[in-house]
Amino acid sequence: MSTHQVATHCPYCALQCGMTVTAGGGVPVVAPREFPTNRGGLCQKGWTAAELLAHPQRLTTPLVHGQSASWEHALGYVADRLRAVQAAHGRDAVAVFGGGGLTNEKCYLLGKFARVALGTSQIDYNGRFCMSSAAAAGNRAFGVDRGMPFPVSDLGEADVVVLAGANVAETMPPFVGHLRAARQVVIDPRRSATAEQAVAAGGLHLAPQPGSDLALALGMLHVAVVEGHVDQDYVEARTTGFDAVWRVAARWWPERAERVCGVAAADMRAVVRMLASAQRPYLLTARGVEQHAHGVDTVTAWINLALALGMPGRLGSGFGTITGQGNGQGGREHGQKADQLPGYRRIDDPVARAHVAGVWGVPPESLPGPGRSAMELIDALGRPDGPKAMLVFGSNIRVSAPDTGSVGARLDALDLLVVADVLPSETAMAADVVLPVTQWAEEDGTMTNLEGRVLRRRRAVDPPPGVRSDLEVLAALAAALGAPGEYPTEPRAVFDELRAASAGGPADYSGISYQRLDAGEALHWPCPSTGNGEDHPGTPRLFLDHFAHPDGRARFVAVDHTEPAEQPDAGYPLRATTGRVLAHYQSGAQTRRVAELAAAAPESFVEVHPDTAARAGLADGQCARVVSRRGVAHAVVRCVASLRPDTVFLPFHFGGDQAANLVTNPELDPISKMPEFKACAVRVEPI
Ligand code: SF4
Repeated sequence: MSTHQVATHCPYCALQCGMTVTAGGGVPVVAPREFPTNRGGLCQKGWTAAELLAHPQRLTTPLVHGQSASWEHALGYVADRLRAVQAAHGRDAVAVFGGGGLTNEKCYLLGKFARVALGTSQIDYNGRFCMSSAAAAGNRAFGVDRGMPFPVSDLGEADVVVLAGANVAETMPPFVGHLRAARQVVIDPRRSATAEQAVAAGGLHLAPQPGSDLALALGMLHVAVVEGHVDQDYVEARTTGFDAVWRVAARWWPERAERVCGVAAADMRAVVRMLASAQRPYLLTARGVEQHAHGVDTVTAWINLALALGMPGRLGSGFGTITGQGNGQGGREHGQKADQLPGYRRIDDPVARAHVAGVWGVPPESLPGPGRSAMELIDALGRPDGPKAMLVFGSNIRVSAPDTGSVGARLDALDLLVVADVLPSETAMAADVVLPVTQWAEEDGTMTNLEGRVLRRRRAVDPPPGVRSDLEVLAALAAALGAPGEYPTEPRAVFDELRAASAGGPADYSGISYQRLDAGEALHWPCPSTGNGEDHPGTPRLFLDHFAHPDGRARFVAVDHTEPAEQPDAGYPLRATTGRVLAHYQSGAQTRRVAELAAAAPESFVEVHPDTAARAGLADGQCARVVSRRGVAHAVVRCVASLRPDTVFLPFHFGGDQAANLVTNPELDPISKMPEFKACAVRVEPI
């Protein structure tokens, strides 16, 4: 049997490591490929990704109320039910929920399908749980949200890198290779693998109490000012708003910040001096500082520090946020977010509406306005004024949403839940209708990685018989609904439409084509069409001349520390925080089904300081209940002496009674609507 080799990218995280898939000779084989983000490396998740392609649990037949059905029956049933729900309750009675792992083409067509075919405003996606605080803070400060406004490979030249709330050694191990030349500072309540490696290499680990990062950033800004490290020329020439920020930071002398966050004032001074004296300093944030009810302000506080030190928009230094999901960046640009249209346009902007409506061939006034954000949408399901039916594409919200016990109740209250997925995730198993769709190596498309670079996902193998692409599902549903508009099923055709819809928007893809990507060009957005042969080179580095606000300046925004929404008390004396482990990705719907990964991390655990465990009557290896005001998660105790005694840590990759999100707090950031995954009050006790 002849084999063929296809160059594509890993199905999982936003590093989007280059890999080859060799197919045609039995089980497809994955191998790493030289690419700037991974430089020939893969983590365990990437190496084992091919196992999903022929997985025995693969969904290959539509299911209607648990029974196998033909596509015609399943799609006809869904269309009939959607029509009936909308006839009875209005357009917004049908909701759509997308995901940050979907290709750009799927995200785009999903948004169009919702706004045009269904005419609903009720669409959002799981990026609200992942990147929305970083996105909002970036928009506020810089005028545009591109998580890393420089290529990852720039970090190879760094001499100091501060990682706030990022555990890249486990989430994206090849990323660590870019940091080797730098002195690293890791800010994390726990001694993560990243913190361990940094300290072993002569760096620092600062362990603030969960939910206190903003106070830490204010204390460090205070140090920068009083020790004379502020880059006055940069602040004067390239920013606005410093005085208001200093009025807040002036109250946060480091000893006061230490009393709130628990990080020694001496460490704050040491890190600020490191950054200020470095030639090529970088400051990167991730979910640890973002997933809070004040996540936007917390990211903003780190941006303020970076601006004061003159780092963003300078060659050889910078501020960035490390996007998590595979298409976390592209997934938030092309219209599956409640307040957005393609090209990162705002849905309440009349000019944007007119442009996109023109591309879609519909009147601008027919497009709905902004809808509910993800958690608000989930909370409204089945309620009198909420959606009665929902279509879910590429998201496992029964595991990934906060307070997941309540999420299950809301899904159960729906008249109709339809899930398009690859494997029987917890959410798919709760659905009335399950539609089996293609996955990474079975499809063409594009993804946008953490540095804003658009990549080609390529088809290496045929999908199993009976499986359709998400694009085909959307087109067939639109046809069954008799909907207006065109719904191409070829990814290239969808991308060409996306390019036109994005033209002139903040995330302008109009100069990017499959042809250019297939020729190996490195294209970071914005990449507008020049109109004379698509030769714009793309924008690997943003902000070098000006920021994206109309005045070209970055904005300092005054923010102050606020306690997490839920405080420990006698009944719930500990703070729980959540995160990831090396072997699993997101809700684990895929990786828990890969034998090698399941063996490496078979069950949930809770990290507890030994003294805390002893007080709770728990020993290492014992099964525990982690109890919050919302629910109980079961986990095996791991006593970790380096952990703060007031903190416990749980990975969020597991379902059922091990789901960490049974205990997390759905309190939302007022701007980004991101839930407070990273700090809630719990107790631990023996089962
Ligand atoms: Fe690379 Fe991320 Fe895939 Fe691991 S999971 S191989 S780091 S893209």
